[in-house]
Amino acid sequence: MSQRSIRKLLVANRGEIAIRVCRACNELGIRTVAIYSKEDIGSYHRYKADESYLVGEGKKPIEAYLDIESIIEIAKAHDVDAIHPGYGFLSENADFARRCDEEGIVFVGPKPEHLVTFGDKSAARAAAERAGIPVIPGSGGPVKSIDDVKSFAAAHGFPIIIKAVLGGGGRGMRIVRSNKSLEEAFVRAKSEAKQTFGKEDVYVEKYLDDPRHIEVQVIADQSGETVHLFERDCSVQRRHQKVVEVAPSQGLGSKLRHDICEAAVRLMKSVNYLNAGTVEFLVVPSGKFYFIEVNPRVQVEHTVTELITGIDIVQSQILIAEGFGLHDDPILIPDQKDIQTNGYAIQCRVTTEDPSNNFMPDTGKIVAYRSGGGFGVRLDAGNAFTGSVITPYYDSLLVKLSTSGRTFKSAAAKMLRNLKEFRIRGLKTNIPFLINVVQHPDFLSGNVSTTFIDTTPELFV
Ligand code: ADP
Repeated sequence: MSQRSIRKLLVANRGEIAIRVCRACNELGIRTVAIYSKEDIGSYHRYKADESYLVGEGKKPIEAYLDIESIIEIAKAHDVDAIHPGYGFLSENADFARRCDEEGIVFVGPKPEHLVTFGDKSAARAAAERAGIPVIPGSGGPVKSIDDVKSFAAAHGFPIIIKAVLGGGGRGMRIVRSNKSLEEAFVRAKSEAKQTFGKEDVYVEKYLDDPRHIEVQVIADQSGETVHLFERDCSVQRRHQKVVEVAPSQGLGSKLRHDICEAAVRLMKSVNYLNAGTVEFLVVPSGKFYFIEVNPRVQVEHTVTELITGIDIVQSQILIAEGFGLHDDPILIPDQKDIQTNGYAIQCRVTTEDPSNNFMPDTGKIVAYRSGGGFGVRLDAGNAFTGSVITPYYDSLLVKLSTSGRTFKSAAAKMLRNLKEFRIRGLKTNIPFLINVVQHPDFLSGNVSTTFIDTTPELFV
C-alpha cells in the first residue's frame, strides 16, 4: 500500500463544507489552502484556512470553483500535496481527480473510475444489479425514443419517473402519471437534462409510492477493507431535496437495517471502492428496499452519522487518502463489530429562503446573527455572522444545525429549542418552516415518507 503524508491541503470548495474540511485538517496538523471567487472575497471560509487565493479570474461565480486548471495551478504554486473537493462543484468530476493524479496531488476521494461509474445513474444501477442488489424496475439504460418509454409504461404501469442519467441534487427528474402527459414530459426531461447536465440522456424507472429514503455511509481503505457506519433517514424532502436528516432511522427493524447495510458494503466491495461514499436506497412500506444511487463523496448530512458513531468522516477521508488502512495507527475506524451507534441525531438545513414566498432565496446583509447552543448541539456554518453579505450566486445553505440525544424525542426537543433560539435579522430564513416540521407528530413518530412535506400543507408558513 502506498503511503504519502499530507502536509498541505487545498479545499476546492466554499461555504460550510470548506470550513468543515479546514477544521478537520487543523486538528490533524495539516496546513490548509482556501480558494475563492471574486464574489467570495469576504467569504468566511477564506479566514478559516491558513492561506487563500483567488481562483478562476474572469470566470462567472460558479465557474470559478469549476476551473480545474486554475485550481491545479494554485495547488502547484503553493506546494499543496492534497485536494479535498467537498461536495458539489468538482467533487464527482473524474477529469479533476485524474488531473490531480497526473500532477502527483492526492485527490481526497475515490478513484476516477468510481466517479465515472457512479456519476452515471444508469451505470450505477448496472453495478448494483451485478452485485445482486435489488434495483427499481427500470429501462436498464438510457431510453432511445418515446416508444421505449411507452412500452416501459405499458409493461410496468404508471406512475413512472424519467431521470437524467447525469442528474443530481434532486434535479432532472419528472414524474409521469398517465399516457396523456408522457410525450411532453419526455421531451422536456431531455431538454432539461441537456441544459442542466450537458447530456440529454434520460432513463425511466417505476415511481414508487411513499418510499422512505435510507442511505448507508460506507468507508473503504486501499486494501479493500470496507465498513459501514449505519444508515441515515433522509425522507424529509421538499421536491426531492433533503431538508431534515436523521440517524439512525426510527423504526427500521434490525433485520432490515442489517440487510440494507450489508447490501451497501457488498456493492462498494464489488467495485473495489475507495474512501467515503454513500449508497442510497428507497424502502417501500412492505419493507422491500431498492438501490437508487451512490454518492462518491462526503455528503451534507454526514454530521448525523458522526454524532451517533463518534467517527470523524472527514478526517477518515484524509487519513485513507494518505494511505492508512482502517486498522493502521492512527486508526479512526474500528472493526465493523466495534462500530456502535449511540442515541439519535437530527440535522436541519437552515437556508436563506423565504418559506412564505415559495422558498425564494433571499439575499442581503445579515444585520444580526445569534445561534443557540448547549449540550448535544452542533453548528456547521458558512457565512453566518452579523455583517455577512449573502449573495445570489451560490446555494442558499446558511448553517447546518445538528442535535443529538439518547432518544429521538430528546434530540427533537433540542432541535426545536435551538431553532427557536436563532435570531437572524436582515434576511428571511426557512426556520419558521423547520419549526413546523420538527414538531409535527408524524415526524416525531418516524412516520414519514419522501412525500411528507409535499403532502402536509400545515407545515407551510
Ligand atoms: P438526486 O441524485 O438528484 O438526489 P436521487 O436518485 O438520489 O436523485 O433521488 C432523489 C429523491 O427522488 C429520492 O430520495 C426520492 O425521494 C425521489 N426518487 C427518486 N427515484 C424515485 C423513484 N423511482 N420512485 C420514487 N421516488 C423517487
